[in-house]
Amino acid sequence: MESIIIILLGLILGSFASVLVYRVPYGGSILTPVRSECPKCRSKISFYDNIPVLSYIMLRGRCRKCNVKIPIIYLVLEIITPILFILLYSPDTYYYIFKISVVYILILISFTDIVTSLDDKFKSGMIPEIYLILLILLPLLYTGFVKQNELNFLYKLAGFATGFLLLYLLSATMRVILKRDSMGDGDIILLGAIIMCTKYYNATELTLNLSLILIVSSIVGIVTWLVMRYSFKKQGLSVNEIRIPFAPALSLGCLYLLVI
Ligand SMILES: [Zn+2]
Repeated sequence: MESIIIILLGLILGSFASVLVYRVPYGGSILTPVRSECPKCRSKISFYDNIPVLSYIMLRGRCRKCNVKIPIIYLVLEIITPILFILLYSPDTYYYIFKISVVYILILISFTDIVTSLDDKFKSGMIPEIYLILLILLPLLYTGFVKQNELNFLYKLAGFATGFLLLYLLSATMRVILKRDSMGDGDIILLGAIIMCTKYYNATELTLNLSLILIVSSIVGIVTWLVMRYSFKKQGLSVNEIRIPFAPALSLGCLYLLVI
């Protein structure tokens, strides 16, 4: 029974995530229009065409009215959200709520970063500030109020400072070498926030978490870059135009630590 509720919650939140991903960076309202509409023909999407996963498959990823293709990201979000909610399961209810909240925000950040970095309206991928603020507040509220652990509360702040400074220095070094910005401010704040969301009780564990996140995200980043370079060259585009959304890579590093 519990797992059915978790899956349903994941499906609903996954579906809502696509609304947020496509509305927040463009300054659209989250609540209006209440019913989603087709981005092309503006026709309202009926409730029976808005059932997570099923509707996308039945309509073969197209709008019922104008036949325009609906981005695959809608389907991906509706599938991965419930899967991640199941994978993150923990019998400690508060910790479980904390973990799925963190991962949900990371999903929003990652997909917003991907969608905006593919959109020419934006110079590079963007991370809405509100998500970063929530990601910093969540671990502070969790350790401060739920777990009431003052020492760990201070460690959380130290973790943020360490992650932030490390990526700040790395980004400054790369700016000198590459003579261009390779990382956004959002990515730098994101690493600080992500570190706070992992479990650690001393400096050694903090260092270990930080190293693991950096290793996982570097591997993901390099693989993404190679795939993009291949596809850019195939299309005859300049490889200098490649903009790697780094937030999904950092998020995967964090996800790894939350699931194990
Ligand atoms: Zn349409």
